Amino acid sequence: MPRQDVLQELNLWPVWRLRADNAPKPAEDTAAVSAPACAPENRREAILKMDWAALKTAVSTCTACRLHETRTQAVFGVGDEQADWMLVGEGPGAEEDRQGEPFVGQAGKLLDNMLAAIDLKRGRNVYIANTVKCRPPENRNPEPDEVAACEPYLTRQIALTRPRLIIALGKVAAQRLLETDSTIASLRGKLHQAEGIPLIVTYHPAYLLRSLQDKSKAWEDLCFAVSAMQGLQNTAQDAS
Ligand code: SF4
Repeated sequence: MPRQDVLQELNLWPVWRLRADNAPKPAEDTAAVSAPACAPENRREAILKMDWAALKTAVSTCTACRLHETRTQAVFGVGDEQADWMLVGEGPGAEEDRQGEPFVGQAGKLLDNMLAAIDLKRGRNVYIANTVKCRPPENRNPEPDEVAACEPYLTRQIALTRPRLIIALGKVAAQRLLETDSTIASLRGKLHQAEGIPLIVTYHPAYLLRSLQDKSKAWEDLCFAVSAMQGLQNTAQDAS
């Protein structure tokens, strides 16, 4: 889609943009190993040692919270497993539950357009994951115990990907990653840290579909993210 069309889709044309340059990435975590099947008492510990293959298998067969009872399938995550950018949403919706991929349907289309507006593309230097891997019934918010049960999987995805920057999409992801109950409004516009990785907060695309007036704020957040990424890359270049 031409960039002007993308920005018109976001109700953001005309605008300026920032563009991040490529820069070397810190060394990957090479200590990841497959782990044996988890005993309940050391489940988290075992998950945090898994490699990608073991982690995917563990998620696809997980029954650690009630959400497994109503899912069609667990939705693991998608994209470049060495990406600089990591986007974290809330949980699968009906279409994601059917297709097994995060952010499909209308919210996914908007997310793809948001990425395109800053010269990014799903699967190319971008990894997308959710806070919970199984669909909450009726698209309700995940309960705290469900978020807690799924926590080690996202934590391990972050450790394996080692992104330069995480974008938390919406309240559930932001509150889980920052271990806070603060509002999106109070968390936006700041460079936070989660799991040792810089993180910024913006709105969930599904919310933006319902709240057009906040699209311009989402664009501000994306510009802030690009600026933050540029700073992180410059710092990495200076250090190398
Ligand atoms: S939401 Fe997470 S913890 Fe719950 S069953 Fe699915 S994968 Fe397991």
